[in-house]
Amino acid sequence: MKILVLGAGIIGVSTAWHLLERGHEVTVVERQPDAAMETSFANAAQISVSYCEPWANRDAPLKALKWMFSKEAPLLFRPQNPLGAGWLQYAWGLEFLANCNDQAFERNVQQLVALGAYSHTALKDLVASTGIEYQRLERGIAHYYTDQKSFDTAGDAAALMRKYGVARQVVAKDELLRIEPALRQFADSIVGGTYTPSDESGDARVFTQELAKRCKARGAQFLYGHSIEGLEVSGGAINSVAVRAGTTWACGIEHAGKLLSLQADQVIAACGSYTAPLLRSVGVKLPIYPGKGYSATFQILKPELAPQVSTIDDEKKIAISRLGDQLRVAGTIEVGGYDLTLDSSVARARCHMLSRRIEQVYPGMCDTRTVEQGGEPNYWTGLRPATPTNIPYIGKTRVKGLWVNAGHGTLGWTHGAGSGKAIAELISGQKPEMQFGFHGA
Ligand SMILES: Cc1cc2nc3c(=O)[nH]c(=O)nc-3n(C[C@H](O)[C@H](O)[C@H](O)COP(=O)(O)OP(=O)(O)OC[C@H]3O[C@@H](n4cnc5c(N)ncnc54)[C@H](O)[C@@H]3O)c2cc1C
Repeated sequence: MKILVLGAGIIGVSTAWHLLERGHEVTVVERQPDAAMETSFANAAQISVSYCEPWANRDAPLKALKWMFSKEAPLLFRPQNPLGAGWLQYAWGLEFLANCNDQAFERNVQQLVALGAYSHTALKDLVASTGIEYQRLERGIAHYYTDQKSFDTAGDAAALMRKYGVARQVVAKDELLRIEPALRQFADSIVGGTYTPSDESGDARVFTQELAKRCKARGAQFLYGHSIEGLEVSGGAINSVAVRAGTTWACGIEHAGKLLSLQADQVIAACGSYTAPLLRSVGVKLPIYPGKGYSATFQILKPELAPQVSTIDDEKKIAISRLGDQLRVAGTIEVGGYDLTLDSSVARARCHMLSRRIEQVYPGMCDTRTVEQGGEPNYWTGLRPATPTNIPYIGKTRVKGLWVNAGHGTLGWTHGAGSGKAIAELISGQKPEMQFGFHGA
């Protein structure tokens, strides 16, 4: 079949690869000049099958209320004007609240672990067959705690994961320092941790861009610099996709590119956070809302002090991964629309917190100075395509020929390979090998 994939993030590119594997003719449409230039660009790098708990849990509402006045809060709800498109934030928030109970939490965890395990196998197969190198480290993920009360609950969380087949173990402080000796400098603050050896880390951008090149070599067409302007539906079926070709400059004047109408047998929307407004325009309503996050990438100055194991800092709710001679730290979520600025006071506070925390945990290991301190930090922000459950939508929509693969929230890198494989199997009339109810729309 001739298939159009909309969006070249980790999800769109992995979808394209798995469609090619099944003999389809694939065209990928992407507004950026390359793959993985938006949310898949500089995430926390964790392949985190075991640390997949959704933000929606029984304690989240109270914490979110408490955090509303802190610029550095892990979860920050920034109310929008409900009279405009802002009402979508409130609708999303209500669904999020409906998932803040133990029953929903466990149900969501079960599905996220199932997709994570399926996706991990798909990723390993993909790496084995393509040989892509992306600073992969198969050293597990460790989660360290600085607060005894929080550490006391770690056993329950680990037991829940083990119930669904993930080997997360509680580890005493000494054992944690044996697993990651680079944490020694911060040892006085640590009370204990958990560890899952089967988790991994690696650079999502490098992986996605390399996979896109291999898709191209296998015959996929990539229309980079092409913006999707709308979907045309007639008689309940997708008819075409309106796409604006790249903008050009001539004689110092900007010329909008040509408007194209692309047709295919099937169309898959994988536009990350922008999937929701695109599909809403043809009556498919999905609760996918942008969850802004931040990262900082530092050059490692003292490799002997640098960690090898990817970690989660419980107090700050941030993740830290080694990517070759660089250290990536990322985290926090801000629910407040499609804003991508890095120079607001909130954005600056959140980025500075990342720098400060790295200096506390790994003092002197990299140059963490902010611009104000004379440094040149490499800060970045991206919009996680967040659903209230953290479970993505993978499947058919009610518009014939229109499919969706979006809403991967905090776990799109972890779930990327499997989500691409699953939708390619579904579209090809195959049954994915996983115990997971599909969430089409
Ligand atoms: C701070 C942070 C840390 C994270 N850490 C991790 C982690 O450690 N592990 C993990 O598993 N996940 C992590 N994530 C989540 C993960 O990065 C995302 O879930 C994932 O990148 C989403 O991929 P995607 O392909 O759906 O979206 P994107 O990467 O955003 O891709 C969508 C593509 O669609 C294109 N597009 C959108 N609209 C249009 C249009 N109109 N026309 C043309 N093209 C369009 C965009 O340009 C983009 O390239 C993190 C996210 C953030 C923000």
